[in-house]
Amino acid sequence: RKWVYRFGGGKAEGSAADVAMLGGKGANLAEMANLGLPVPPGLTILTDACAWYFANNCSLPEDLKAQVLAGIAGMEAETGRTFGGSSKPLLLSIRSGARASMPGMMDTVLNLGLNDETVQALGNDAADARFAWDSYRRFIQMYADVVMGIDHEIFEEVLEDEKARRGHDYDTDLSAFELEHVVGLYKRLIEEEFGETFPQDPHVQLWGAIAAVFASWMNPRAVTYRSLHRIPEQWGTAVNVQAMVFGNHGSSSATGVAFTRNPSTGERALYGEFLVNAQGEDVVSGIRTPQSLTEEGRLSSGSDKPSMEKLMPEAFRQFVSICDRLEAHYRDMQDVEFTVERGKLWMLQTRAGKRTTRAAMKIAVDMVGEGLISEEDAVSRIEPSSLDQLLHPTIDQRVERSVIGSGLPASPGAAAGEIAFTAEEAVVAEAEGRKVVLVRVETSPEDIHGMHAAEAILTTRGGMTSHAAVVARGMGIPCVVGAGNMRVDLRHEQLVCPGGIILKKGDMVTVDGSSGHVLKGSVPMIQPELSGDFGRLMEWADKARRMTVRANADTPADAHAARSFGAEGIGLCRTEHMFFDGERIHVMREMILAEDEAGRRAALAKLLPMQRSDFTDLFSIMHGLPVTIRLLDPPLHEFLPKSEEEVEEVAAAMQMEAGFLRRRVEALHEFNPMLGHRGCRLAISYPEIAEMQARAIFEAAIAAARETGEAVALEILVPLVSLRSELDYVKGSIDRISAQVARETGVRIDYLAGTMIELPRAAIRAHVIAETAQFFSFGTNDLTQTTFGISRDDAAGFIPTYQRKGIIDQDPFVSLDLDGVGELISLAAERGRKTRGDLKLGICGEHGGDPTSITFCEEIGLDYVSCSPFRVPIARLAAAQAAI
Ligand code: ADP
Ligand code: MG
Ligand code: MG
Repeated sequence: RKWVYRFGGGKAEGSAADVAMLGGKGANLAEMANLGLPVPPGLTILTDACAWYFANNCSLPEDLKAQVLAGIAGMEAETGRTFGGSSKPLLLSIRSGARASMPGMMDTVLNLGLNDETVQALGNDAADARFAWDSYRRFIQMYADVVMGIDHEIFEEVLEDEKARRGHDYDTDLSAFELEHVVGLYKRLIEEEFGETFPQDPHVQLWGAIAAVFASWMNPRAVTYRSLHRIPEQWGTAVNVQAMVFGNHGSSSATGVAFTRNPSTGERALYGEFLVNAQGEDVVSGIRTPQSLTEEGRLSSGSDKPSMEKLMPEAFRQFVSICDRLEAHYRDMQDVEFTVERGKLWMLQTRAGKRTTRAAMKIAVDMVGEGLISEEDAVSRIEPSSLDQLLHPTIDQRVERSVIGSGLPASPGAAAGEIAFTAEEAVVAEAEGRKVVLVRVETSPEDIHGMHAAEAILTTRGGMTSHAAVVARGMGIPCVVGAGNMRVDLRHEQLVCPGGIILKKGDMVTVDGSSGHVLKGSVPMIQPELSGDFGRLMEWADKARRMTVRANADTPADAHAARSFGAEGIGLCRTEHMFFDGERIHVMREMILAEDEAGRRAALAKLLPMQRSDFTDLFSIMHGLPVTIRLLDPPLHEFLPKSEEEVEEVAAAMQMEAGFLRRRVEALHEFNPMLGHRGCRLAISYPEIAEMQARAIFEAAIAAARETGEAVALEILVPLVSLRSELDYVKGSIDRISAQVARETGVRIDYLAGTMIELPRAAIRAHVIAETAQFFSFGTNDLTQTTFGISRDDAAGFIPTYQRKGIIDQDPFVSLDLDGVGELISLAAERGRKTRGDLKLGICGEHGGDPTSITFCEEIGLDYVSCSPFRVPIARLAAAQAAI
């Protein structure tokens, strides 16, 4: 069985395509060798060997040995050196390399093959004893750390002591003699710590290091990293064994790292650092300050140390041309590692460079301009959810931050404001032109107006799908929820933070909904800037996608935001949100508390003009684009006061007896409101509510058409249907009002009648429901609740446990459960379309803005997705990627 692939001498057995077998590092080393770039010869032990190692009680396959030794013989031939030889010794680097870059695994071991004898040979050979002893002390330190498990800090201490004793500032000041002394101290230390002498046999060193790489695949840091990043355990790591080249070989040697473009801005300029007379990780370890690669970089950093461009012009020119070649070859920005040994350049690694979202956009757009990639490639390269970084203000990372608490990052972006503990306070403060952060234990629908007034929301209880989180995401304002280490003390109007810090009402706080941090005071922010690159990329995305993207928008402000982010309509307008604002809640309560139909109608008559004017605004803003209005959905008691205090307050305001109000509230109480008297059930019990809403909708449509000159593309959505007869009944009411309004005004408004598919029965009976429904909107929040039988409001209590115990992978309220809920959706879509070929299909709810869920929607051929306004660009991009 073949366990080993070789590379070197201008060719390789593998290539970049073999990343699963060779790991990322090995695959790219092979690719660079194939390109004829200067890569020290080496071999890669396949990831399969890692699986074998663990399947066989942490041992190595018998036939691996011979293959590795044959590979080393090849390196010996190419370099003219001998592994373990007493003259011209070949030294090796042992490097781990998994399929995905994975911090937390074994570090690299350099200079392997040195011992008391070969160190002399290396020194003689190079006529440089200092270089040899420097390499040996590095090797002992690294090997002891990663193979023998002795903390490298104790070696650092020895080295520091030695430098101090000799009056040196830098490692490079130590002489050969002094380094030899350090090596002696190191070896003694190992005997004391480990009870064994440092292995002198290069072959023992070699197999020790290889086994250590495999073993590190299962070390706790690596296991944690994999579970966080969903990297499968069975992938395993490869091991790269490579001939050493030496950046620590005097002043004409150096080691460095570079990005082929600026990873934070995307600017097309080589960006990197190097250190003269250094090896391996010295550049990033901060022992000495590294120098800029380019003169330009040196000037902009204000450093007086010469750049590589100045110091090693020949190697630099070659390096620049290799970087250009790598970019052209990989058609992407690269992150490279290199070493110069006595003037000769060696490439040690290349991979696609990590970058900020802003840089990713600029690089993708520039590369289209440079003819390197197509517009569709550019669209495919941007991670949709990373757009969040661009759409919201973010905390300026350069400033010092004092974190006083933390919770879940529920809605991205950062904002600062004065603390307000109630919705009313927030509204008042906003009216006076002050910025506020609404701080609550948790929020409820009654807090909506306060949430609208706030710059950010902080709760001490609740999960990612709590009311505060969902509403904040919908409104696009930063939100941190479940900050359990902070306590709201309402009586004293203060927020008690860990460490005894206390903030009073009116004190400034900053909420960072991207990290979950809460910071004291007002921290400087970077404002989003939707630059030209963003616009270009979105244009290309729009060309590539098939599905339309709409927004969930309940208010004119939402609708404006939706349009500015490129929404092509409103997929869901939740009319109940209009009833919580200001005095409307009073009229709404009058309606709910009325004892008969006449009383309800009287209150509804007062609500009609308010609702009509809201709809008129909404329709006008959308200017002829489709707008889906959903009839009243939540159970009525959501509009009523809950605590005794609130009951008394409301009773006083409504001039009624508190006792009466309390009895009515109790009468409306439901045990499972989510499964209770809500949705179309309300429109059936109280048809006058739906009739008022229908009238407001039609009259507004007429007014808006007059104002804008564009007919409204109107869709009326009936919620929580499970029976066709329910829909027939409600549609009957709407049709009647439509006819009435037409008679009164002489204008007939066309509309589509549709239903939410959010109950399993509706999905199953979709072919029957489609006889009446002209469109379906998949309400995946409720459909997930009703399919799983899990209440979204209570899920936070156990979903994290489920995830930790591996029962489920993903929170089904965040990413659509494709196997269950998804299957219901595709079944309903198919059955519905069988009945009605032109049935319009869309998805609303949180999943409409989730990239994986969007991919699924494309696969099953939905017509549109609808999500909160701030996620519209994400959805546009994700829909494009799904279609490409
Ligand atoms: P990481 O995955 O942590 O980047 P690497 O395997 O790339 O680990 O090794 C880290 C550093 O070690 C490299 O950047 C390089 O400076 C040095 N190194 C690795 N292999 C060699 C080699 N064959 N010759 C010289 N230096 C090497
Ligand atoms: Mg590396
Ligand atoms: Mg619903």
